[in-house]
Amino acid sequence: MKKLIAAGLLGLYSFAAQALTLPEESRVPGGIALIPLEGLPADKRPSAWYKSNRVMVLSTRDTPLADKAHWVAVAGIPLKAKPSQKQHLRASATSYYFNIEGKEYRAQYLTVKNKRHVNPDPEDIARWRREKAEMVAAFKHWSTPKQPVTQFILPAKGPFSSPFGLKRFFNKQPRNPHSGLDIAAPQGAPIIAPAPGTVVAVGDYFFNGQTVIMDHGNGLTSLYCHMSRTDVKIGDKLNTGDAIGAIGKTGRVTGPHLHWTVSLNNTRVDPLLFVEGK
Ligand SMILES: [Zn+2]
Repeated sequence: MKKLIAAGLLGLYSFAAQALTLPEESRVPGGIALIPLEGLPADKRPSAWYKSNRVMVLSTRDTPLADKAHWVAVAGIPLKAKPSQKQHLRASATSYYFNIEGKEYRAQYLTVKNKRHVNPDPEDIARWRREKAEMVAAFKHWSTPKQPVTQFILPAKGPFSSPFGLKRFFNKQPRNPHSGLDIAAPQGAPIIAPAPGTVVAVGDYFFNGQTVIMDHGNGLTSLYCHMSRTDVKIGDKLNTGDAIGAIGKTGRVTGPHLHWTVSLNNTRVDPLLFVEGK
């Protein structure tokens, strides 16, 4: 009897895995807006743009938005977006406007031993600028896989030690907000691909340490950093569960953990919006 139930559940699960699950909507800075592209024809996938970045567009077939429009834009909202300003998204020649709400992220105070990680010298800054350009190019990578990726599993096992969006102070000095989710895990523990994708950057960066960036298609990319080891190279095609590298404490850290960034339309958003049952 138990076996039958398990088989039944598995059957349901594999059916569910075929249908497209949209990420969770959260119209706040650092969140995601799902904008039904009303009035656009079904025969051609429109291209959409938001704040000069190309935006993911999915078919609404088999989704709760199917009776509103044929297509939905899935747009990442920047942490610095202002709730007082109407947001403007363009698809084909049509403008779509939407509002966002404010979100108050908590502050976090960290102390790091390497003072250059708080006040980099001019050489460090020049290096970081080059590395940032390399990372932004990876975040802007555009590809269109047959099966769009809209869901992630967690890339490492462990407690969430710092959520996305925290306002950050290093050695009491204000710095950029936390652009990802931290998962605490022991040095050397595995980091896996949370969805299919292609490796588009591998580097050893000033702040991020050993880093890998994956492209999942339609403007969705993900970054893994502070690793002790990377197991992949640029161009590798990974499936869910494939090894990326190992947990470490390289770059600007207070201890071993994975920093996991998820980027949509070159905009860093809360990774957990893509994780079901987190
Ligand atoms: Zn982090």
